[in-house]
Amino acid sequence: MAAAVGEEEFDVIVVGAGIMGSCSAYEAAKRGRRVLLLEQFDLLHHRGSSHGESRTIRATYPEPYYLPMVLESFNLWQQAEAEAGYSVLSPAASQLDFGPAGDSSLRLAVDNCQAAAIPVRVLRDPAEVSALFSGAFSLPSGWIAVLTDIAGVIKPTKAVSMFQSLAARRGAVLRDRAQVSDIRRKTPATHHGGGGGALIRVSTADGRSFLGRKCVVTAGAWMKKLVQAVAGRVLPISPLHTTICYWKIREGHEKDFSQEGGFPTFASYGDPYIYGTPSMEFPGLVKIALHGGYACDPDERNWVTEVGLLEKTVVPWIKELLPGKIEGDKPVMTQSCMYSMTPDGDFVIDFLGGELGEDVVIAGGFSGHGFKMGPLVGRILVDLALDGAAAGVDLRHFRLDRFDVNPRGNPKEFDDQVGSHAPPGQ
Ligand SMILES: Cc1cc2nc3c(=O)[nH]c(=O)nc-3n(C[C@H](O)[C@H](O)[C@H](O)COP(=O)(O)OP(=O)(O)OC[C@H]3O[C@@H](n4cnc5c(N)ncnc54)[C@H](O)[C@@H]3O)c2cc1C
Repeated sequence: MAAAVGEEEFDVIVVGAGIMGSCSAYEAAKRGRRVLLLEQFDLLHHRGSSHGESRTIRATYPEPYYLPMVLESFNLWQQAEAEAGYSVLSPAASQLDFGPAGDSSLRLAVDNCQAAAIPVRVLRDPAEVSALFSGAFSLPSGWIAVLTDIAGVIKPTKAVSMFQSLAARRGAVLRDRAQVSDIRRKTPATHHGGGGGALIRVSTADGRSFLGRKCVVTAGAWMKKLVQAVAGRVLPISPLHTTICYWKIREGHEKDFSQEGGFPTFASYGDPYIYGTPSMEFPGLVKIALHGGYACDPDERNWVTEVGLLEKTVVPWIKELLPGKIEGDKPVMTQSCMYSMTPDGDFVIDFLGGELGEDVVIAGGFSGHGFKMGPLVGRILVDLALDGAAAGVDLRHFRLDRFDVNPRGNPKEFDDQVGSHAPPGQ
């Protein structure tokens, strides 16, 4: 069958212009390929996971396989910034992880840093932690803190925009308001595994269609819906509505929470798992948020902030661990976002398989910690699409078939960190 009139042809079609899709489009364009990036909403919209003011980059992971990925990502962020001529990542003085001394994920994070020769300092005396950070933190007795210097804050909307601009500069075509509704073969694969000149037709809900030799699907919280519609395959990826909170710093303490004052990016382990960044984007405010949310349909969100949940988790946490420094009864600003959770919290990066074989690569389920890896994920996805394998990275833990072996995915030696709560009102 001939191509429909006006059906443009590309080497790589990327579906979804969040951080993963934008990095993939850039990477494929950098390799001289004809690239199309399709986004269902406006570019840089706020309905997915890659918008807003800050994402942290850190090397403290309880799973060892993420450490080399963080290190490579750090380099790739810097390379892209050099090409763009501006920065999106501000190094932080340090990453501070803390929690009960017996917390297994904290212990594993230390072990993994040590095994990877990443300098790590374990502080067992809460008074020492308090002294290091201008008295900001007051850790309960029996808690330890872990200090590492691979730490930074990335500006997400600016970073996505940077990769889109770099991709466009290298010739990629960006189309927004283009909701992909179907992905199927136009011509059959000529040998097992696809390739051999086979073409994929990517169609949009408003009746347009495009042809690609390869397709990369990075649809964030819509992955499950899109892949089910296109391939009938049900991915174990659950969207969670989550809320970022900004709190007012009490007058006179602003410097203690600033980047210049040495305030770290931080994570407080256990239940609740709380994280935060230095005061940067809104002077006088500091971001302190709960790592969790409630299940949602990405197309039917109610945008409700879980006030009751915050009162039970973040408010008492602030009163105990940052006493006297924050006006901690309620946040002064909130922003909504979505996590795409897998049962094990690990990414999904794989070929789609089935009819579409290795000509369609999928990536999703970034489980609230994927942003920092965006440039690397882009590199991996383009390696998989163009070469059939990703160089120098072990993707075993990200394969889809892990859920065939065990519906909970990769076995973990620690409890889940991301909590899923009942929606407000239930
Ligand atoms: C509050 C919050 C804090 C976070 N903090 C951190 C952090 O500190 N560090 C870190 O590393 N990570 C963090 N993350 C996680 C990180 O932001 C996500 O892992 C990452 O943004 C996921 O990017 P994505 O491209 O997969 O998804 P998205 O950004 O959602 O992009 C997917 C895109 O695909 C589009 N799309 C979907 N379906 C279609 C379709 N049919 N046709 C066309 N387009 C489609 C969507 O509209 C969307 O634009 C955080 C996430 C949140 C929500």
